[in-house]
Amino acid sequence: MTLDQIRALVEELAGPQVRSALSWLYYNLIGPMLAPTGLHWLWISCAVVFAYGFFRLTVGAGPRTERSFISWLVPREVFLHASARLDYRFYVVNQLVLMHLRLGSLVTAIVGFLFAADATKALLTALLGASQGQATPSIAILIVFTLLTLMANDFGRYLAHYLQHKVPSLWEFHKVHHAAEVLTPITGYRSHAIDQMLDMGLRLVMAGFIGGVFGYFYPGGLAELTILSFNAVAALIYYPVVLLQHSHVRLGYGPILSRMLISPLMHQVHHSLEKPHWDKNFGFTFSLWDRWFGTLYVPRSDEQFQLGLPVGSGRFDTVWSLLADPFVRAFKRTWRPRPAAGIPR
Ligand SMILES: [Zn+2]
Ligand SMILES: [Zn+2]
Repeated sequence: MTLDQIRALVEELAGPQVRSALSWLYYNLIGPMLAPTGLHWLWISCAVVFAYGFFRLTVGAGPRTERSFISWLVPREVFLHASARLDYRFYVVNQLVLMHLRLGSLVTAIVGFLFAADATKALLTALLGASQGQATPSIAILIVFTLLTLMANDFGRYLAHYLQHKVPSLWEFHKVHHAAEVLTPITGYRSHAIDQMLDMGLRLVMAGFIGGVFGYFYPGGLAELTILSFNAVAALIYYPVVLLQHSHVRLGYGPILSRMLISPLMHQVHHSLEKPHWDKNFGFTFSLWDRWFGTLYVPRSDEQFQLGLPVGSGRFDTVWSLLADPFVRAFKRTWRPRPAAGIPR
């Protein structure tokens, strides 16, 4: 091959085919891996900053060099644990192979949102008559709308999470998330597609009600305030710590703030193996729902607990067992008589 032929080949490779191949690669392989909102560079940076503050304030004696911070932040026994390695494999399969299923859940959720928004607007029109609303909302209205949209979304998550724990067949799918024996930020994405559908569906239906109410009073339309395309309130109170919810960084908010917001430690307790912690802290952003419905548990900062499910809860050691076994267990739970001793966790 001559030099000219090589150059021609390189030019050809850099042509439209390569560009379209690269774009296919991005949208089908790399894009889905980056899609989860919590893995945005901004939230990764915030998590490291909060973890560093926590490390400086609370981690015991010893030379606190940057090196010891990094080995504390990314401990081998957590990040290379068999459970964490399964999380990574599950993440890749879930994000790539099952993305069409995820798309299906997105479509379901969007339809649910539009239905809820339209039904709410139609109800208000029937009750109050045709909208006499204003075309442009003020900034104060936009702030309220942004906050209420986040709250409605979070309440939908709470409801879905409550059902995932209390309905035996749904619990079989949710167990996939709870079977993790160590928590890393990738564990946050260890959830079954059925789990995700219910979660996304109820979140958007709830947000749809708020959209419908505001859509009635502001027929000109309004959009939530955003910071880097994230809901602005969530960007201030939720996303900066979201990656610590699934981590070994036991960041708590103290007894007062914990009555308003879910701290990373409160979600870690939600994963506890200890019985007093079961079915507590279903919320993700606000702890109001847990407080109002009696499921709040504010742990002490030194409270010790193991993570995972009791022995005999099922098989959770391969990606296939995480994906397929819940269907079998849910079927058995639904169609076979329950054991006399009650439902095992
Ligand atoms: Zn749960
Ligand atoms: Zn979790």
